[in-house]
Amino acid sequence: MTIAVSPVVGVGLPRVVGASLRVPVLGGERVEYANLDHAASAPCLEQVRDAVDELLPWYASVHRGAGFASQVSTRVYEQARDSVRRFLGARATDAVVFVRNSTDGLNLLARCLPRHTAVVLFDTDHHAALLPWRGPHVRRLRTPGSAAAAPLELDRALREAPVGPRLVVVTGASNVTGELWPVAELARVARRHGARVALDAAQLAPHRPVDLRELDVDYAVLSGHKLYAPFGAGALVGRSDWLQAAEPYLLGGGATARVTDRGDRLAVAWSGAPERHEAGTPNVVGAHALATACDVLGRHWEQVAAHERVLLERLRDGLRSVPGVEELALFGPDHDRVGVVSFTAGAQDPGYLAAALSAEHGIGVRDGAFCAHVAVARLAPGGRALRASVGLGTTAEHVDRFVAALRSLVTEGS
Ligand code: PLP
Repeated sequence: MTIAVSPVVGVGLPRVVGASLRVPVLGGERVEYANLDHAASAPCLEQVRDAVDELLPWYASVHRGAGFASQVSTRVYEQARDSVRRFLGARATDAVVFVRNSTDGLNLLARCLPRHTAVVLFDTDHHAALLPWRGPHVRRLRTPGSAAAAPLELDRALREAPVGPRLVVVTGASNVTGELWPVAELARVARRHGARVALDAAQLAPHRPVDLRELDVDYAVLSGHKLYAPFGAGALVGRSDWLQAAEPYLLGGGATARVTDRGDRLAVAWSGAPERHEAGTPNVVGAHALATACDVLGRHWEQVAAHERVLLERLRDGLRSVPGVEELALFGPDHDRVGVVSFTAGAQDPGYLAAALSAEHGIGVRDGAFCAHVAVARLAPGGRALRASVGLGTTAEHVDRFVAALRSLVTEGS
């Protein structure tokens, strides 16, 4: 099978670190590593590495130091908030809280909800979006078989939701199937019922522009390590009132405006958001890396999207040609998606296939249930699957090598 490759692939694309890494395979030979696991963590951009390198000499504690390096670090840290805000199309009044990752951001938001907030979400979400919500007013909706039905389901649920504050949690792109959720439509329904919307943009933000104002979404989280920056920095962005009113759950320096000794107790005045939720010395380098990745992606959407479109098509066509392979889908094979494909291969064990792809062919994919156990249990017999995901570190050769390797393993095993 031959598929024409658009000449745009690779042209003008931001480059990633370790693009031609060579790894050992059985027999001792070394081959170029084909990283088809971008959905888990994407490789670091060269521009991000360079930005981090440039900052390291100015490594100093932010906010509390009078020295020159502290001033530089503080400025870089605060500018990083602006980059993230711009990247997400957030409002000028939105708080940008630096957290460790999307999981941390969603857990923080869950801790900041007013008492008795009714929370509505869909049950096939990533555990980071599925699990942090507690209390009697959490409603998990069964994900319907079509994207068009999701707003109707939400409408029904919100009609029955108790009076009071309400939050709808929406995933931008599924980490299992890559399928896009109808975020704007869901937000419209939420608004009609006076609910706020939190977007889990962890899997969407590396692939498509996200604009909170355009989508009419109140909160979003993202993870630097999925966005071509190193681990350890993410952001929760959104309306500051709930964040401002909530007690911080991490208590310590940096989150406090004043601590006074009242003899038998300490009187603590917490800082406003975002600082009240960033106790301790913050990850300045991580925030700068994340912000740089946001700036770079924001300047290259056309190339990023074109690159991914071609590779995704090539990947899906290739998978269709392998006997027994079945792609997983929440909303059907024709629904729009980012570069993430999960599949089963007949009776072949996903764990065995993933291990063999790595050991014999130097190809990295993911197997299992991808921290979305409900989704995978519903879509894949046995509740386990393989996932291949593409991005800026992927080439057409990686995809072809993967499809050929999978075909040979599947044929051997049948
Ligand atoms: N949401 C989605 C859709 C994801 O794909 C992931 C990670 O795979 C997360 C949330 C959690 O991200 P992190 O592990 O960076 O907190």
